[in-house]
Amino acid sequence: VDLPIHEAVLGRAAAFGSAPALIDGTDGTTLTYEQVDRFHRRVAAALAEAGVRKGDVLALHSPNTVAFPLAFYAATRAGASVTTVHPLATADEFAKQLADARARWIVTVSPLLDTARRAAELAGGVREILVCDSAPGHRSLIDMLASTAPEPRIAIDPAEDVAALPYSSGTTGTPKGVMLTHRQIATNLAQLEPLVPAAPGDRVLAVLPFFHIYGLTALMNAPLRLGATVVVLPRFDLEQFLAAIQNHRITGLYVAPPIVLALAKHPVVADYDLSSLKYIVSAAAPLDARLAAACSRRLGLPPVAQAYGMTELSPGTHVVPLDAMAEAPPGSVGKLIAGTEMRIVSLTEPGKDLGTGEAGEILIRGPQIMKGYLGRPDATAAMIDEDGWLHTGDVGHADADGWLFVVDRVKELIKYKGFQVAPAELEALLLTHPDVADAAVVGAYDDDGNEVPHAHVVRRPTATGPSESEIMMYVAERVAPYKRVRRVTFIDAVPRAASGKILRRELRGTA
Ligand code: ATP
Ligand code: MG
Repeated sequence: VDLPIHEAVLGRAAAFGSAPALIDGTDGTTLTYEQVDRFHRRVAAALAEAGVRKGDVLALHSPNTVAFPLAFYAATRAGASVTTVHPLATADEFAKQLADARARWIVTVSPLLDTARRAAELAGGVREILVCDSAPGHRSLIDMLASTAPEPRIAIDPAEDVAALPYSSGTTGTPKGVMLTHRQIATNLAQLEPLVPAAPGDRVLAVLPFFHIYGLTALMNAPLRLGATVVVLPRFDLEQFLAAIQNHRITGLYVAPPIVLALAKHPVVADYDLSSLKYIVSAAAPLDARLAAACSRRLGLPPVAQAYGMTELSPGTHVVPLDAMAEAPPGSVGKLIAGTEMRIVSLTEPGKDLGTGEAGEILIRGPQIMKGYLGRPDATAAMIDEDGWLHTGDVGHADADGWLFVVDRVKELIKYKGFQVAPAELEALLLTHPDVADAAVVGAYDDDGNEVPHAHVVRRPTATGPSESEIMMYVAERVAPYKRVRRVTFIDAVPRAASGKILRRELRGTA
């Protein structure tokens, strides 16, 4: 645990030798463990020679590629903190992150170079833009592999030095830079390792983005630490994803609920041989038990296992343990991991601990709590209280055996005449309608100023119905009267973040 992240992850890489570490799922390019070990050291040496110094912030701006992990671990080995950037960020968004993080270096890919250049101009302070592939006038990681510079010997303090500076998803507001030390990330990896279903010889499919903490941990750090093989896809395309599972004999999937939805419902799934799959883990957003069951039944797999966490928690606190997949109660996000404490406190009486089965805000204390939000001491203090409890902003309840259920975010609860309605519950119910392809629910105000549930529904392309009133009836027949959907809007697609979360704020204001 007290190793820098590149050591914690790649410490055994040389010993894994010629086993495949990373495979490009689009063209088959393969890097062995021996190459990952040697290459990231060469790039670290070249970065140090180029002027990267301890404490510099390097912005890694790339879709998932086999070079992404090399760039990441090379940068931390050279002493830098890596701030990962959404590859679809606009120049303005990227510039804000560069300025906020005071990034001095950018590593990008040639198709994104224009955006990176404009962002660097807008932000100022960037010393150099490097590319993973190649582009005229820019140093490239490929050239750096030939570097003869000596390997940098940087003294890293795992407890203090920031390894990663991911920005939270921005689901509820402006994304904030989350300072995660080497120790925080390595601790969480060690906490999760005995519990998660990954083993040497596994082949996982990196379809969720590495730039988000979930992909960074579950699809990069954890499998590379274990000697597993990571097949890399640059974006989610259902058919390409299914073909990759089939062709690379993928054994494990780490996904978010929209992918579980596609696996459960989409007709093309039946055209692929997915028999190599052994498990599916879902995290990042609420997953309904019925949907999870429909997915595992269709694929003939053990129940979809959930995990729960957030960027500020490096990221995990709950998982369904490997040996308990079959017995976990449906809908649970798992049990608390070792070395971590949890409380569930009242939403109306601050500080009051609640009992078994009672829903309240989830509070967490443990060694994986972030160092803080970069440059935002007030936001940090609002999140972590004096006793070290991090207030997650999520509502949940736990049963007598410690299984946690996440209801929704505190801020997303719709207050209908004094009752609280969780959008996630209504979304899950809407998805059980055979002609509903996708759905999102937000609070809206009726003519009397009451907040009411407003459903945004995507109908199946071939379906002729249901109508607005049919949707309202469907829900009304299945929930208590205060939870009824009172307004329906049909949309073409539910807006989602790259991590799979519904961007409910984009739907507010749609009448
Ligand atoms: P921001 O904090 O910028 O608004 P965000 O909270 O979406 O964005 P992340 O750190 O990516 O940023 O997401 C963490 C959140 O994801 C948790 O607080 C929780 O609401 C949700 N989440 C994660 N796992 C689960 C899960 N298994 N079930 C339900 N919700 C989950
Ligand atoms: Mg958050």
